[in-house]
Amino acid sequence: MPRRFSLSFFFIATFVISPFISVVGQQRPWLPQELQELDLAERLRFDKNATTMASTDYGHLIQVLPTAVLYPSSVQDITDLVKSSFSSHLPFSIAARGQAHSLKGQAMAHNGVVIQMGSLNQTHEIRINVSSSPLDFYADVDGEQLWIDVLMATLRHGLSPPSWTDYLYLSVGGTLSNAGISGQTFLHGPQISNVYELDVVTGKGEIVTCSKQLNSELFYAVLGGLGQFGIITRARIALHPAPQKVKWTQLLYEDFSAFTRDQEYLISLNNGKGFDYVEGSLIRDESDLDEWSSSFSEKDREKIRSLLDKNHLIYHIEAAKYYDNVTAPIVDKEVDSLLEGLSFIPGLSLKSDTSYVGFLNRVHDAELKLRRMGLWEVHHPWLNILVAKSRISDFNEEVFKNFERKSTTGLVFIYPMSRNKWDERMSAVIPEEDVFYNVFFLRAAKNDWEYLEDQNKKILSFCVKAGIKFKHYLPHYTTNNEWVDHFGHKWNKFVERKKSFDPKGLLSPGQKIFTFMPWQRK
Ligand code: FAD
Repeated sequence: MPRRFSLSFFFIATFVISPFISVVGQQRPWLPQELQELDLAERLRFDKNATTMASTDYGHLIQVLPTAVLYPSSVQDITDLVKSSFSSHLPFSIAARGQAHSLKGQAMAHNGVVIQMGSLNQTHEIRINVSSSPLDFYADVDGEQLWIDVLMATLRHGLSPPSWTDYLYLSVGGTLSNAGISGQTFLHGPQISNVYELDVVTGKGEIVTCSKQLNSELFYAVLGGLGQFGIITRARIALHPAPQKVKWTQLLYEDFSAFTRDQEYLISLNNGKGFDYVEGSLIRDESDLDEWSSSFSEKDREKIRSLLDKNHLIYHIEAAKYYDNVTAPIVDKEVDSLLEGLSFIPGLSLKSDTSYVGFLNRVHDAELKLRRMGLWEVHHPWLNILVAKSRISDFNEEVFKNFERKSTTGLVFIYPMSRNKWDERMSAVIPEEDVFYNVFFLRAAKNDWEYLEDQNKKILSFCVKAGIKFKHYLPHYTTNNEWVDHFGHKWNKFVERKKSFDPKGLLSPGQKIFTFMPWQRK
């Protein structure tokens, strides 16, 4: 069925846009004349500086040049651009570019137009409006806004979104197009589960408000929809009362099954009595520990070094309990009782206090350090997968113990989350088990990164051969079959939604899902 749709779609598309193909064939930048007559034309740039900037991303693995870059001054510019392509007999592809923290060109548009979403901010004041009526806490946030700005604006009202990513310099539209996951996901769901309403510019150039009640099909499509159904220009985000401080706990483990058993136990305490944040990572070498600004004493470090000499690998849980002035006197007791019965290496635990902002924004410190060392703008052949809990120990035996213990590049995260915090109606896909692990290999390389890509391929091929169920997070595929496989039972719906909301396949071509549209090919 999906294939049939693909083919008929292809034939119609080929017929409709055949003049465009010849233009692409001539390899010259081209946009319809009508577009150049619109008011937004003065905010379209064709120069090399603009197009080169839009041809890169955080991954630094591929480069795709657009024809032009739009620096919108209003949402109207975005609707005009999309309308112009939609109604033209020579359509062109369009990619919203949030912060371009994608890894493989997902926010790029070959021979199309990239919308530099951040430019909306330069012509308006920061557009984050907080409603703090006691019955209804939420923030209306424009799609280009950074989560760090959302945090600072909502804290002024004593409020905060409950669900985060580990790094806050990502755009709201960018993370809602994926999911937005972090150590709070087990408790509050991903960021896409914490949205009440959206304004979206569809692939027809219409601006539509949607929510669970209003235009719900579009609402669910866009959340985790990889930018395929519309450009998010506003999101109404759920807010909770903000904590003031964080009791930050770190625990070290020799034994993987004890590590996962404790993580799974901690995420099962989701009634407000447990931790507010649970993550985990691999420690392959002392430098991994330093990433956590850990203040283990020299005596502890000696012990850690000798464990690493023996095992080559130990495991690290990071758990946090939020508190404020009222709960400050009891927070230590609460944390101690949560730690009772856990199986971390005796003595190898740390407790420290930090501010809520300092805790949420700690990756920024690492960013600044890496920037100073010239190690931020490098290649990032990351692998991000969600692995079903039932086989996580096989994954450890083969992947962590065999591949990763020898690798010292980039952190490796591993922490569990629960399926029941994800809404099946949304486009995001996750493994079909009640609990699954988020496994992020955050690889970085100054020069030869190909061997790290090979390592990723070996990991994936091991999972396939061993029958380990997993889903890619921040997916990137090159064939239709891989996308059909990725979406599984959601594929038909995904295609139907594409037909409804972006029938000409204009949006987010860099995801390479609907590559049978000629203007989405490279
Ligand atoms: P972009 O890369 O600009 O865009 C991503 C996709 O979304 C593209 O297809 C683009 O066309 C589309 N898009 C962008 N804006 C909009 C919009 N307004 N409307 C519709 N579509 C749009 N992810 C997590 O979940 N948890 C983490 O902890 C986490 N940490 C990260 C740390 C770092 C250092 C980096 C580089 C990435 C991290 N990510 C994490 C991944 C991140 O969430 C995604 O890469 C996300 O897409 C980045 O947002 P962006 O604004 O840079 O999006």
